[in-house]
Amino acid sequence: MTTCIFCMIGNKDIPAKVVYEDEYILCFHDLEPQAPVHVLIISKKHIDSLDAVTETDGELLAHIMLKVKDIAAELGLEKGYRLVNNCGKDGMQTVKHLHFHLLGKRKMIWPPG
Ligand code: 5GP
Ligand code: ZN
Repeated sequence: MTTCIFCMIGNKDIPAKVVYEDEYILCFHDLEPQAPVHVLIISKKHIDSLDAVTETDGELLAHIMLKVKDIAAELGLEKGYRLVNNCGKDGMQTVKHLHFHLLGKRKMIWPPG
């Protein structure tokens, strides 16, 4: 039994508000949204972080990137959005399973905090 929270969500062992799903990825609403729209896109395969990907994950990563615009359109983010990956300690990654934050429906600020 996995103790990884995102593997558990991916396996449907714990519930989430799912926005999109296919064989390779799952997209669901963040529990603590930082914008009016804040979803997470996770790989179904457990990968610790963006720092842990290998050449064999190339197709998966491309798949995630290519799905972003479809998910954004589905969520009504026609004015734009921000895609974020927090990686490692300094990147403030709290869940050690590869995921991307997709945020929208508000004007973002730069530089980020
Ligand atoms: P990180 O800080 O690792 O980049 O992002 C982890 C994100 O996962 C956080 O925004 C946090 O709110 C979200 N999160 C943590 N646990 C859960 C959960 O059980 N369900 C959902 N939907 N989101 C979660
Ligand atoms: Zn995992």
